[in-house]
Amino acid sequence: MKKIAVLGSTGSIGTQTLEIVRENPDLEVVALGAGRNVSLLEKQVREFRPRLAVMGDEKAASDLKERLKDTDVKVLSGMDGMIALAEDPSSKMLVTAIVGMIGIRPTIAAIRAGKDIALANKETLVTAGHIIMPLAKECGVRILPVDSEHSAIFQSLEGQRKERAEKILLTASGGPFRGMSYEDLKGKTRADALKHPNWDMGAKITVDSATLVNKGLEVMEAAWLFNMQREKIEVVVHPQSIIHSMVQYEDGAIIAQLGVPDMKLPIQYAIFYPERRPLRGERVDFFALSKLTFEKPDIETFRGLKLAFRAMDLGGSMPTVFNAANEYAVGEFLHDRIGFTDIYDMIEKAMDAHKVIPSPSVEEILSAEAEVREYLKEN
Ligand code: NDP
Repeated sequence: MKKIAVLGSTGSIGTQTLEIVRENPDLEVVALGAGRNVSLLEKQVREFRPRLAVMGDEKAASDLKERLKDTDVKVLSGMDGMIALAEDPSSKMLVTAIVGMIGIRPTIAAIRAGKDIALANKETLVTAGHIIMPLAKECGVRILPVDSEHSAIFQSLEGQRKERAEKILLTASGGPFRGMSYEDLKGKTRADALKHPNWDMGAKITVDSATLVNKGLEVMEAAWLFNMQREKIEVVVHPQSIIHSMVQYEDGAIIAQLGVPDMKLPIQYAIFYPERRPLRGERVDFFALSKLTFEKPDIETFRGLKLAFRAMDLGGSMPTVFNAANEYAVGEFLHDRIGFTDIYDMIEKAMDAHKVIPSPSVEEILSAEAEVREYLKEN
């Protein structure tokens, strides 16, 4: 039996992870954690029978405890609970399916406890990659990408010498507003932004895809995962989302991973790596597709990517500020309190106001996040 813990089990990645558990009888869930969706977590606990269930929200945790009175499942709450889940002695792997940089501490705790990480929670790597990657090496654990592009890069590097890679070609769908002008973007609402053309994902990452902030976060994520400079990571807009990303080698050969857009493939690949398992579902039909197209990203209109490049070039704590400002702004946008392009303005304002801390500690990262939130609330 392979034993895993899932943090963020009620979300898009979390529920798809549990679908994979259902299909693979040699996979066992020993701990489940979520934020505040008590009803779904209760249902998941009753189906998968983990030893531990955690709710980030205290009130939700006491509600869950009450509902699970008839079971022997331990219920914990808050950051201490998430860390206990990450360190659970019976698990071999933590699936980080939580959204946002709140995943930093549990991810670090899991690495220290010797767990492999199936990493979906890109915000953690974006802000603390300089801590996480060396720590994983020191602790002898693997960071296995769940993000579809990074899984594609990982698969395209399989069996190759990484030093022979000339560049990474990171594909992007372009989101629902591809081809539009900045004026067009100004009027876009929450409902418009939540209509992704190819992927069905959680709300935050769907908005990030529309702004291209997600692609910026992914360039940073790829730089950490594959130890590549940003100049060697090229974003290629590919609206069909069939090629999930590619690696170009020194001899001009390009190796790509293709498939229909389905997150279960990269999740399953991360969980069972290096084994490839059967997965039911649609297959690519090249004849029905007939063509695949490619474009350069428009980073003047979709300023998310341009701001991400600036944050990467400045380095240190600036990617944290970029990410924290985006998390705050997207929260505001999802509550209809700001407009779509205000997300860019807020990120830029927070970055302009920040003095870079080189190689920040976890405490410095978290206090930079708190400062950004305060600053944006007040300004
Ligand atoms: P969702 O919003 O669908 O799910 C987020 C999960 O995190 C939920 O289980 C939620 O619990 C939990 N959560 C949120 N806040 C807290 C908290 N304070 N404490 C504990 N748990 C919390 O997100 P996605 O599944 O879309 O994304 C998860 C991560 O994966 C993100 O980092 C995203 O960028 C990345 N990713 C997602 C992809 C996708 O296809 N969805 C693709 C590639 C990467 P609850 O709902 O109970 O409050």
